[in-house]
Order: sequence, then C-alpha cells, then structure tokens
Amino acid sequence: MAGCVRCGYRGSLAEFRYLGPAEGIGAVSLRRCPVCREINYFNEVEEERELREPARPWGLSPVFGKKFIREDTEDAR
Ligand SMILES: [Zn+2]
Repeated sequence: MAGCVRCGYRGSLAEFRYLGPAEGIGAVSLRRCPVCREINYFNEVEEERELREPARPWGLSPVFGKKFIREDTEDAR
C-alpha cells in the first residue's frame, strides 16, 4: 500500500500517477496523489515488496535468525 503524506489517502501504488524518477538512479520515484494531487516520493521496490510479502528490513533474508545445525553432529541425529 502507498500513502499520501498530505491527505493520508492510502491505495495501491498504481493509483498514484507516475511522474518520473526522483533521482537519476535508484528506485525512488515521484507519484501524484489521486485525491489531493500532492506529489509524493515512493520507493518502488519497497512498495511492491509490501504487496507480495510482509515488510522486512533491508538485507534480511527469510533464513535470518534461524539456527543451523550441522547434520553430522550428534544433535541432528
Ligand atoms: Zn493526497
């Protein structure tokens, strides 16, 4: 979900009209709010990721925090 910083409207990223990249390089873009026309900054990668799976801090993989045990040790038998 994407949210407007001005009016607080929340909707899918597609509802916010794409205006262009906010920076020369990177995933941050400018999009216009469909309700109040405010221009918002969105990180396209993070917004898309939110739709697919629960938000997770950058750099953490699904195996983060899991305990790994060597299969050839006594514990694993
Ligand atoms: Zn708005």
